[in-house]
Amino acid sequence: MVFLLDRYVEGTCYLCGFEGTRSDQCNNCGNVLEPEKLVNPRSKEGGALELRETEHSFTI
Ligand SMILES: [Zn+2]
Repeated sequence: MVFLLDRYVEGTCYLCGFEGTRSDQCNNCGNVLEPEKLVNPRSKEGGALELRETEHSFTI
């Protein structure tokens, strides 16, 4: 699966459950995160990530 640059994606930490964390490091618990494990990832720039993921899944 292709993600946007990590720093443009945020979501829910899969370690502590904090919502709105960065995808590379949690803003709350400070652990380094693997972006592909992030819960409910979304783009910081307007939430278009879900649509882009859908496009990818159809084109691949
Ligand atoms: Zn966390």
